[in-house]
Amino acid sequence: MSAAKLVHGYEVVIGFETHTQLATQSKIFSRASTAFGAEPNTQACAVDLALPGTLPVMNRAAVECAIQLGLALGSHIAPRSVFARKNYFYPDLPKGYQISQFEIPVVQGGAVSFFLDGEPKTVRLVRAHLEEDAGKSLHEDASLGGGGQSGIDLNRAGTPLLEIVTEPDMRSSDEAVAYAKELHKIVTWIGMCDGNMQEGSFRCDANVSVRKPGAPLGTRREIKNLNSFKFMQQAIDFEVRWQIEQIEDGHAIQQATVLFNPDTGETRAMRTKEDAADYRYFPDPDLPPLLIAPEWIERVRSEMTELPRAMAERFVRDYGLPEYDAATLTQNKAMATYFEEAVKACGQPKLASNWIMGDVSRFANAFGISFEDLPVQAAQLGALVTRIWDQTISNSAAKEIFDELWSPPMPPSGYSVTDITFGLIDAIIETKGLKQMNDSSELEKIIDEVLAANPKNVEEYKAGNAKALNGLVGPIMKASKGKANPAQVNALLLKKLG
Ligand code: ADP
Ligand code: MG
Repeated sequence: MSAAKLVHGYEVVIGFETHTQLATQSKIFSRASTAFGAEPNTQACAVDLALPGTLPVMNRAAVECAIQLGLALGSHIAPRSVFARKNYFYPDLPKGYQISQFEIPVVQGGAVSFFLDGEPKTVRLVRAHLEEDAGKSLHEDASLGGGGQSGIDLNRAGTPLLEIVTEPDMRSSDEAVAYAKELHKIVTWIGMCDGNMQEGSFRCDANVSVRKPGAPLGTRREIKNLNSFKFMQQAIDFEVRWQIEQIEDGHAIQQATVLFNPDTGETRAMRTKEDAADYRYFPDPDLPPLLIAPEWIERVRSEMTELPRAMAERFVRDYGLPEYDAATLTQNKAMATYFEEAVKACGQPKLASNWIMGDVSRFANAFGISFEDLPVQAAQLGALVTRIWDQTISNSAAKEIFDELWSPPMPPSGYSVTDITFGLIDAIIETKGLKQMNDSSELEKIIDEVLAANPKNVEEYKAGNAKALNGLVGPIMKASKGKANPAQVNALLLKKLG
């Protein structure tokens, strides 16, 4: 935990509950599909509808997701956990209760660690428990010509969720967002959740309170269902300001569940908060305790993908990358994979890293394209980097080529090559005449001409004004049509000027 950053003399305290939808084919206790976007009620079977006589059967794939998360976050994986009924009435909950885990959850403890403004942070987890999602109420908008009726879509009922609960360890909205981003990165990285926030696969509830430093924890309000990092930040910032105002005005904070309205940027109380007692939890007699043998955990461990932290350490160790590069490249798995493939093609980790963190990321962001779908293949970038490294082309020529690779001229530019990597890059270099001038006699001729044409700069330089050199480099690069190697130009100039 970090030193408190105060807001108007108050310390902010935040704890998160995140519902991650598990990337399983079928539901947590039935064989109905979990695919998103189907016609309402086409993916709800008898179990999801709670028809009498049906019984839930635990989906092993959902349990494996929980094991994966526990392994990724250093948690204890309970050898025996218990499903409980959480009783409440809601139209989209046909059983009248939700199957969840209460007293003994499957994942216990663990932590999420990340950097915020270069400082290491750790948020401890309390637990992560398996549960089923509810259905969805849909309301016709009468003003749009609908009948103003409500309907219920039970496609989502029974979708497997893992609810991940933190200790109240966060001390600012920045820290909360950084935590959520890190958790999002991990769950998508290990593949247990697709992370699609618009579709509700990763929804956060932020519990927020404020207190004077050193005072006991204040009363919290829980902001429900934050489904974007931007809203998360806005909602928490608004909530903190609101709570401080209330307290300063002499009002006590009432524990409540609140909703954030993105249109107004405000949070508003939805209901007073229920206590656990309100839910009358009890162990579900339809489900046996969930038993996880050590062999099962070991099998999942052996099949698990390398985690971002381990991968970053390997990038430093094996490729000699600075830690900053390694951390940036492992921000998402597709980017890390792209980097490794590029290095395979060029053998120049640092140069490849610079390109990927620089131009490649800039293009990807500007075009809103993820690293899986980049139009420039990793092997092509590797070939490009190789041609910079072996001094065939300058960095600026490489940028021109990258631009062309990104959006090739239409109709297809007619490079008659079958090899799409080195062959293509070399063909573009050839066609566009971008080969760097590495022949020093040709370059010396140009330099001599430029020196003769700019006696004033030469004089100034000889008189001790080092900056006068810049006035010579420009015309030389221009005379070479950008093909001179800047380092070579500098070296030759210094030699000639003594
Ligand atoms: P419930 O299950 O009733 O919502 P929990 O005790 O499980 O309550 O806590 C839910 C979340 O609220 C946890 O993430 C916890 O860290 C957080 N939390 C608890 N007390 C506070 C507080 N005073 N301020 C901010 N967050 C809190
Ligand atoms: Mg809660």
